Amino acid sequence: MDYQKIIEDICREIRPFAEEGKQADYIPALAKINPDQFGICLRTVDGQIYAHQQADTRFSIQSIAKVFAIAIALSLRGEHIWKKVGKEPSGTAFNSLVQLEIEKGIPRNPFINAGAIVVADILISELDDPEGEFLNFVRTLCKDDTISYNEEVAYSEREHGYLNAAIANLLKYHGTIENDIEDVLMFYFKMCSVEMSCRELALAFRAFTCHRDFNYAGYKLTVSQVKRLNAVMQTCGFYDEAGEFSYLVGLPGKSGVGGGIVAIYPMKYSVAVWSPRLNSKGNSVLGMKALELLTTYTEESIF
Ligand code: GLN
Repeated sequence: MDYQKIIEDICREIRPFAEEGKQADYIPALAKINPDQFGICLRTVDGQIYAHQQADTRFSIQSIAKVFAIAIALSLRGEHIWKKVGKEPSGTAFNSLVQLEIEKGIPRNPFINAGAIVVADILISELDDPEGEFLNFVRTLCKDDTISYNEEVAYSEREHGYLNAAIANLLKYHGTIENDIEDVLMFYFKMCSVEMSCRELALAFRAFTCHRDFNYAGYKLTVSQVKRLNAVMQTCGFYDEAGEFSYLVGLPGKSGVGGGIVAIYPMKYSVAVWSPRLNSKGNSVLGMKALELLTTYTEESIF
């Protein structure tokens, strides 16, 4: 398969959509980003790399961090985590409060904000130095010690994070989170603020693509647990657009409001795309389009 040529063809073909959507502006530090950027990197499990355009520009990974967080939580607490957070698609926006109230403080899944805030609370309870250990895990996944939090983005989000604060309060009211609300929110925003490039994300997600030997920075998952995380990405990774992503792309994946999307073809490749302009569901317009064309042209998907 000539992935390089396919990727370059795709980059040409998505150009007509380049001005659709707009970047997340509810986090002021992200509103300043130039929206007209695009990068892509596909990495096969045996280490072949196909990159194009801004594959090495770092951006805010935002909700993609939720995959790293749930992996650590699953490694530490095993199946017990599913008592505090579900694994069903929500069908609602990533930052919705509605379901959480009706379902008495148990979030639908770990990839909506409410679920990831619960996972952040679990990590604070389990780890001596949550911020240091989370970062060390991500750095280990991509063998790069320069990956870091962006404090400006994290504090900018904290200052304007009224909705996430409301979610955390509702969770605390229902007894789902144990720790101080302020500590949980700040750790959650820090995780979202990690900056990585498409090349780095494609490498980091190799761990979830190649199911064998998941053992990074001391966190171990069985083959079955990694496959199950892939299943949750497939059903819940794109909030109320998970069905659309499944239909158009046909791979498990995870998006973030920084404009990044990572997708996995199990045992074959991981691919990361980035472009800041988002659609109304908070997913990258060009990122979705590029991945749709990738699996259409290659005729490769999990189905
Ligand atoms: N930090 C963002 C938030 O909590 C993450 C959302 C996202 O990427 N979908 O709103």
